[in-house]
Amino acid sequence: MSLDNARQQVMTSRLLLTAGLLALAAPAHADLLVTNVQGVRATADSKVERFTGLLVGDDGKVKRVLHGEQFKLPAGTRVLNGGGRTLLPGLIDAHGHVMGYGLALGQLDLTGTRSLAELQQRLREYAVANPDLPWITGRGWNQELWADKRFPTSADLDAVVKDRPVWLERVDGHATVGNGAALAAAGVTAATKAPQGGEIRNGLFVDAATALVDRHVPAPTPAMRDAALQRAQQALLSRGLTAVADMGTSEDDWQSLLRAQGARTLSLRIFSYAAGSDELAKIDARLKRERTRTDRFRLVGVKLYADGALGSRGAWLKAPYSDALHTRGLPLISPTQLREQGRTALGQQYQVAVHAIGDAANDMVLSAFADIGCGSADRRCRVEHAQIVDVADLDRFAAGKVIPSMQPVHQTSDRLMAEARLGPQRLGGAYAWATLEKSGASIPLGSDFPVEDPNPFHGLAAAVSRQGLDDQPAGGWRPQERLSFGQALSGFTRTAAYASFAERDMGALDVGQFADFILVDRPVADVTPHDIARTQVLETWIAGQKVWSKDERTTAVTSGERG
Ligand SMILES: [Zn+2]
Repeated sequence: MSLDNARQQVMTSRLLLTAGLLALAAPAHADLLVTNVQGVRATADSKVERFTGLLVGDDGKVKRVLHGEQFKLPAGTRVLNGGGRTLLPGLIDAHGHVMGYGLALGQLDLTGTRSLAELQQRLREYAVANPDLPWITGRGWNQELWADKRFPTSADLDAVVKDRPVWLERVDGHATVGNGAALAAAGVTAATKAPQGGEIRNGLFVDAATALVDRHVPAPTPAMRDAALQRAQQALLSRGLTAVADMGTSEDDWQSLLRAQGARTLSLRIFSYAAGSDELAKIDARLKRERTRTDRFRLVGVKLYADGALGSRGAWLKAPYSDALHTRGLPLISPTQLREQGRTALGQQYQVAVHAIGDAANDMVLSAFADIGCGSADRRCRVEHAQIVDVADLDRFAAGKVIPSMQPVHQTSDRLMAEARLGPQRLGGAYAWATLEKSGASIPLGSDFPVEDPNPFHGLAAAVSRQGLDDQPAGGWRPQERLSFGQALSGFTRTAAYASFAERDMGALDVGQFADFILVDRPVADVTPHDIARTQVLETWIAGQKVWSKDERTTAVTSGERG
């Protein structure tokens, strides 16, 4: 390619960037040399390996990983001069909820509210700003952050909005509070009994009970879903994520992905885990009918639930909660159902991923996995969260070839609550990252967005420090369970790809893998956890194409330089 052509291409891609049509950029029919970078990636044994550049083919895949050597450039090679900045493989969130995040970005945001009064204030402002919305839905409150730790009630919401339904989900998604109009719309009265696996208290619905109202919330239209997918994609790319495991894809979500693919607006890679066995069957049938072929999203498995969460005391424990001796939570599925649904999915060559937070739930899932043959072949059965595990059960992950998929930021958000819920005696197997790695398990890492912010640098920092963004507690919480930087980076790259059967295509910038990478503003492998958490992503590239940029001036693609 001539210099002029190269310049023209840069101009064209800038115009496209300006128009916000990143994914429409035509594939570049030339190799790309990425040079003058401080490359950092995780090796197969979770060490940090450094490199200086990449040669990317016109198929968007890595041709060579450079370690300072000089060589003759193929004619017409484009050059990206990284200006000495740090380059990482594109980060992969091993557990998130793409559509839920995109929809949440358009809803009333209650994350970080410090009091009921602040929740009420935000609700008041949102209601005024959105007078035509038939239902006000929101999410993100956490009474644990409030001085009295009291759960909100219907009356608390009625004091602000009475004329239309209000339905506000707790930060962990396991409890939701509705106002009087929401309860009326759902036909819920004082006489309504909560279903098995749920609870209703003063307008607060826990776990299975939320379905009583959820089914009356008007479903988002296809247009709302498509907009949500784009909102989520932009937010994820801007945080340096190039792929995510979507833990609960519905058929509606799948159709949105198909539309985005058709409109060429999907850059992010998505590994879909169908939201339960019924959705798996529906999406699987669609796949067989439509023969979808794309490297941007794929159906890899099914997501099932064994229990709820710790915050709402829905996590299923072997012994009663230390701060609520009348309960030990509850299972959301029977061992028989779990085995049957797991076996069916495995029989169709799909992966099985099961949410398990309490020690009783983890025990049940590990047993079911052993029964259905997860340990006898390359099944990569996954436990999602694996937060509270009986110390006696920790070795069963590696022994049974079960992948513990964990979220470092859950540990930093939950530590005080976990201490209260469990008491000091049961913390030995809580968020036991280092012990699990030592036993031979590799941990893919994620954030569980929108439960937590998807920023993977928050996760990397928490993984190596066991400290929150406030640097608390000093020295880290149960610091013996910290991961090394190499282990943490692998968790967000190589191991996360492996955990979704994607290691052939991504995770390590190995030759033959897609050139999915990011440029960041600091040498993340060499700074303190405090500084890791504050890393800014400058550019995000997928398959050798720039799909997001903080500032168009940070780098320029030119032609004719030497590596
Ligand atoms: Zn989740």
